[in-house]
Amino acid sequence: MDLSAIGNDVERVIVSEEDLHAKIKEMAAQIDIDYAGRDLLLVGVLKGAVMAMADLARALQSHIEMDWMAVSSYGSGTKSSGVVRILKDLDRDITGREVLIVEDIVDSGLTLSWLKANLESRGAKSVEILAILRKPDAAKVEVPVKYVGFEIPSDFVVGYGLDYNEKYRNLPFIGVLSKHIYS
Ligand code: IMP
Ligand code: MG
Repeated sequence: MDLSAIGNDVERVIVSEEDLHAKIKEMAAQIDIDYAGRDLLLVGVLKGAVMAMADLARALQSHIEMDWMAVSSYGSGTKSSGVVRILKDLDRDITGREVLIVEDIVDSGLTLSWLKANLESRGAKSVEILAILRKPDAAKVEVPVKYVGFEIPSDFVVGYGLDYNEKYRNLPFIGVLSKHIYS
């Protein structure tokens, strides 16, 4: 779906398709180095991380496995509630595994810090985080994100997996949602 297909729903593009792909390639190269000789399990957080996971997995030059979790923290608004619920759990046991959580965005950081602790409590050997985007509020919570794509302002953004009421996930870029859509 292109910008021209959504009229003025998106105020401005903040990360282009080209920049996303270049960054994913760069992060994949670093992950190949960091995890050389280790068995990596990518855990994608549904549904926002679908695009990032698909692109990252294909950019990696190492064998990896993929699993998925779905958690809910947002409902249909634009602010984090802090309440995390598992909607879909991992298919496999992760005891002793090297886990890299793949997430679309760290906003308040509440979802990820909860998820990291949850996966660690299952006996994973390591649990690290990759996020395509990070907002300034993420600084408030102690959530160590090992790989960050882009630091962005606090605006509500959509595209490349990120939604507003389940729409706009299929935009190939990331843009700021126009205020008239949600106010
Ligand atoms: P956190 O718990 O506040 O860090 O929120 C994380 C989750 O909220 C992300 O995985 C997204 O699903 C959602 N989220 C946070 N900011 C945005 C945004 O700007 N656009 C779309 N979804 C967002
Ligand atoms: Mg998400």
